[in-house]
Amino acid sequence: DYQTELLRTKLQIRVSSKLIPPPILSFSSCCLPQKLLQNIESTGYDMPTPIQMQAIPAALRGNSLLASADTGSGKTASFLVPIVSRCASYRLKHFHNNKNPLAIVLTPTRELCIQVEDQAKLLGKSLPFKTALVVGGDALAGQLHRIRQGVELIVGTPGRLIDLLRKHDINLDDIMMFVLDEVDCMLQRGFRDQVMQIFRALSQPQVLMYSATISIDIEKMAKSLVKDIIFVTIGQPNQ
Ligand code: ADP
Ligand code: MG
Repeated sequence: DYQTELLRTKLQIRVSSKLIPPPILSFSSCCLPQKLLQNIESTGYDMPTPIQMQAIPAALRGNSLLASADTGSGKTASFLVPIVSRCASYRLKHFHNNKNPLAIVLTPTRELCIQVEDQAKLLGKSLPFKTALVVGGDALAGQLHRIRQGVELIVGTPGRLIDLLRKHDINLDDIMMFVLDEVDCMLQRGFRDQVMQIFRALSQPQVLMYSATISIDIEKMAKSLVKDIIFVTIGQPNQ
């Protein structure tokens, strides 16, 4: 409606579809678990940033997104908050089931993965939400063991995750959310085949893709990957 349009204009949020909920103005206005709200507060976040205002309610509703927002604008929490919320709720509801992983976040580097996992741990504190890091430099056995014990989220680099999947039986049937951080890099030659290989092993997860800049090529690839993908852009249109 008009109010939503006005709000988006003011926040410099552009969306490619009307089938996306309005931006939230506070973390407490979108039915997040109480413990998650407390964790967000302990992290020191008072107000959501514009990308968080728009991406969090959309991702909570199950929309697949291709989102672009400047470096340092809080993209990480904009996918981790919905991941923690959806995965912890799922686990509480299906506590008698197996403990297969529920979400995967892929990033191009070990360092980025470590940062993302650290933030995920903080946001998931005191909730049924555990994480596993799957990156080079540490023993594969330990990473496998951690997953086997039961985690909700795997954060990894594509090469290392493929290595793990090739050598060991990891059940990805319950993966409901798949995130590509730095997607401009992740869908470029070099990473693209590995990312596609992992994506094909999943059964139609919600897909969230993030980057500071997004080219027409990436938009095309995103559309061919997920047909009902919604584009979200924060700030001035880039080149
Ligand atoms: P991006 O991935 O968009 O480059 P990050 O997710 O790494 O950005 O966030 C950049 C910094 O902003 C981090 O230090 C993060 O903790 C902080 N941050 C994220 N969201 C908020 C918020 N709502 N309020 C205050 N600081 C935030
Ligand atoms: Mg980032």
